[in-house]
Amino acid sequence: FQTLTYLFFFFSYIMTCSISESRPWTGNYKFQLPIISNQLRSDPQTIQSAATDYGNIVHQKPSAVLFPSSVQDIAALISNSNKQDSIYRAVAAKGRAHSVRGQAMAQQGVVVDMMELKKSRNGQGVVVSGNANSGFYADVGGEQLWLDVLSETNKRGFSPVSWTDYLNITVGGTLSNAGISGQTHRFGPQISNVFEMDVITGKGEFVTCSAKNNPELFYAVLGGLGQFGIITRARIPLQPAPNRAKWVRLLYSDFAAFTKDQEQLISINGGVNYLEGSLLLDQGPPDPTFFSPSDIPRISALVKQNRIIYSIELAMYYDDRTKATVQEELQALLKGLSFIPGFNFEKDVSYVEFIGRVQIGDQNLNEAHPWLNLFIPKSRVLDFDAGVFKEIVLKSNLTQGLVLLYPMNKSKWDDRMSAMTPDEEIFYTVGFLHTSGVGDWQAFDDLNKEILEFCDGAGIKVKQYLPNHATKQEWIDHFGPKWGVFQERKTSFDPRMILSPGQRIFNNN
Ligand code: FAD
Repeated sequence: FQTLTYLFFFFSYIMTCSISESRPWTGNYKFQLPIISNQLRSDPQTIQSAATDYGNIVHQKPSAVLFPSSVQDIAALISNSNKQDSIYRAVAAKGRAHSVRGQAMAQQGVVVDMMELKKSRNGQGVVVSGNANSGFYADVGGEQLWLDVLSETNKRGFSPVSWTDYLNITVGGTLSNAGISGQTHRFGPQISNVFEMDVITGKGEFVTCSAKNNPELFYAVLGGLGQFGIITRARIPLQPAPNRAKWVRLLYSDFAAFTKDQEQLISINGGVNYLEGSLLLDQGPPDPTFFSPSDIPRISALVKQNRIIYSIELAMYYDDRTKATVQEELQALLKGLSFIPGFNFEKDVSYVEFIGRVQIGDQNLNEAHPWLNLFIPKSRVLDFDAGVFKEIVLKSNLTQGLVLLYPMNKSKWDDRMSAMTPDEEIFYTVGFLHTSGVGDWQAFDDLNKEILEFCDGAGIKVKQYLPNHATKQEWIDHFGPKWGVFQERKTSFDPRMILSPGQRIFNNN
């Protein structure tokens, strides 16, 4: 098959396509599409590595993997896949493959190993520019990890405003979904914090797009699940980086008080910089990376007694200028909140330590991750607690792993983007981050189905985040009124439906 691959690209490839770029790492030039046969590999180990992801549930083998030596290699691959006689009719960008349902796979197609592009950047994968008048920004390769963005921007005293909790994932991968964390209520998701992108569309065209320049492609790609193009660069706005963070956890036994306080905290303009929430269940010691060993026994006892404890996690950033007043401001914010007296905990850490706080070891191949992430409209979050947390979760004998729950504001999202949110100004994200043995993820999948069926039956109009839908009708329902636009954009930018087949949107029944 490898020989066939080489021959195919060797003979079919003498094409020219003018693409102009002006990027710090490439210079300004027009180029011809290269011959990419040397960049394609199909040895069993390579194929196997592209047929798995963090979920470890779906396994689809591609025919080849492209290790691009340049952005042009990707354009060449896609242009070629558009040809009538192409043997590759499916192409998926793979960032860190931290999807959980095969979204970055391409059965019998070509997976593009985006991380390979890092080599061609010559250490220039994250370039900080700008000035005090017009603002600062970073030009970041789509293959760069958010971890790299943190370290490169911080070196220069800057920082993006919107993050994910975990940073060992690529910029292209999170911008294809949304990129959410405790900053989202204040600054919107990462997709709301992009000035401009370079995208190779499903037609193999290299296009620079922004809200003003090719806006249709710009909005399509943001939250677009990889359906319209491959992001090779994103321009991300920066602010001066704070030095440190006051990091707080507050524990609640009452769900209504917990959500009321979360909503109160996000309603204060210029209040907390970060706000999330999670459930503490009687399934082992609470987060030892945050709580001190001396507090753990009394927290465990509290959880045992209540079965579920809800935890608000917040942070206030500060620097030398605000150092003297931050503690006072923090106390003012906490005043009047209804956490259990004596169950408030505080740490003081560097900003980089805070943003990089979520560390996960290498993927354990004996584990699967049947995750479920939902957005829930605020008006039904109490019903969700009663029906899901207090019934389905507590009755199940499965160890739940981390369960996150925190609110955000719809007005910080842009409805022209492809990402879907519920139809209310405040909505919550809930994440069931289950870990199972590789052979028993099905039990968690059943639990996820039970949760979705409960929501459906109770009329709670949830939207899946990092969506995984089995049928075309489910996708149509997911996009609701935006389905028509989503389809039209597919026809415009990827008419042959080549890109990201692992999402199973257009190649579905
Ligand atoms: P991949 O899994 O490689 O790809 C995801 C999809 O995007 C695929 O369809 C792929 O084809 C497409 N794609 C990849 N690169 C590009 C590109 N350059 N251009 C266009 N399409 C592309 N999400 C959050 O929002 N917040 C979190 O805090 C968070 N934490 C996480 C923690 C862990 C441990 C894990 C496993 C996931 C987490 N996620 C979080 C989800 C994560 O943002 C998504 O799974 C994201 O897609 C992962 O990026 P990736 O580079 O691994 O993408």
